[in-house]
Amino acid sequence: SKILVTGANGYVAMRIVDQLLNAGYSVRGTIRTLDKSKDLRERFSDFVEAGKLEFSVVEDMTSNGAFDDAVKDVNAIIHTASPFKFADDPEEVIKPAVSGTLGILESALKFGNILKRIILTSSTATIFSPVTQTTVMNETHWNTVAVEEVERLGREANTFYKYMTSKVYAEKAFWNFYDAHKKDISWDVSAIIPSYVFGPALNNFRSPSEQNGSTKLWWDNVIATPATPESASFAACWVDVRDLALAHMLALQKPNAGGERLLISAGPFTYQDWIDIASTHRSPLKTHEFPHHKEFGGYLPKGCPDVKRDYLLVYDNAKGLKILGPELKYRAMEETTADILEDYAARGW
Ligand code: NDP
Repeated sequence: SKILVTGANGYVAMRIVDQLLNAGYSVRGTIRTLDKSKDLRERFSDFVEAGKLEFSVVEDMTSNGAFDDAVKDVNAIIHTASPFKFADDPEEVIKPAVSGTLGILESALKFGNILKRIILTSSTATIFSPVTQTTVMNETHWNTVAVEEVERLGREANTFYKYMTSKVYAEKAFWNFYDAHKKDISWDVSAIIPSYVFGPALNNFRSPSEQNGSTKLWWDNVIATPATPESASFAACWVDVRDLALAHMLALQKPNAGGERLLISAGPFTYQDWIDIASTHRSPLKTHEFPHHKEFGGYLPKGCPDVKRDYLLVYDNAKGLKILGPELKYRAMEETTADILEDYAARGW
């Protein structure tokens, strides 16, 4: 069967495309301009030649009927396209996130004659709340703090809160649309809700600064910038990009995933936890020389090993594991670290 993946050139999406193609699915990927399919065409040239991977250009997903052609004759849709960036004007992230999500649903309503399921790539940004004591959160929680601040302060709001708000509005719009139309449609929906995504990219990033938002954070905090107690103690939850891609595919396959929010997270981290593991490895870097690496005899730096590690907000991944089944096994930080470092070496960084 054929799966539509929106924003197919993205970091997470390229792994989803890889997962689907290798499992035997055909894939149609949307990109904003034809040149954005370059990495995909190179990486998956065999599949392109075999007619298993095709592209559909959707220049502006906020325009009316933008996805009308793209959704035709697909069995399922994975909607990943959404701005993952920091903007002054909150509408710059909110508008594409919400109109893109509603646009794909509207087009599916009109042309999704063989459609079975739509999966939205949401984010734990929709669940997050700033907490001062250990708290476990799950799919029943919604982030109200970021939304209230952005509604109150607009441009002056915390920039990360603007991104969070875009994801909350998009996912809420998704469920509202589904609830309003579910009586009249033959397909269902589910939301995949990942925490921070790390792990080796398939994108042909030519330099570290070209990386996507989250892989750049790992590079900055673990490799490129000298750790401070503030940076090293930063705590959040994470998932390996390959496990997240598998979760998306399983969410297509498992009947019980329909109608559900599914939190996808391997567990908590502090950047110091990553540094502890990375510092047992020799530096893979070929062209980047950082002064703070010098004292470790060819090994990666040790950061701030004595820093306090408070994993205050922990996401409960039990529901996702139960519904997506035993095929979903979360990689440990050691494996992801080793693979990221090997990837840097292969890129000649
Ligand atoms: P990338 O920036 O690598 O990919 C984002 C994709 O969305 C690209 O294809 C991009 O297209 C497209 N896109 C962005 N803005 C627009 C727009 N205005 N109109 C049309 N397309 C747009 O990010 P990720 O792969 O990291 O993110 C993919 C999804 O996963 C997003 O929905 C994100 O919110 C979610 N997510 C990511 C996490 C992470 O840690 N990486 C954590 C939790 C959720 P183009 O290349 O043309 O800009």
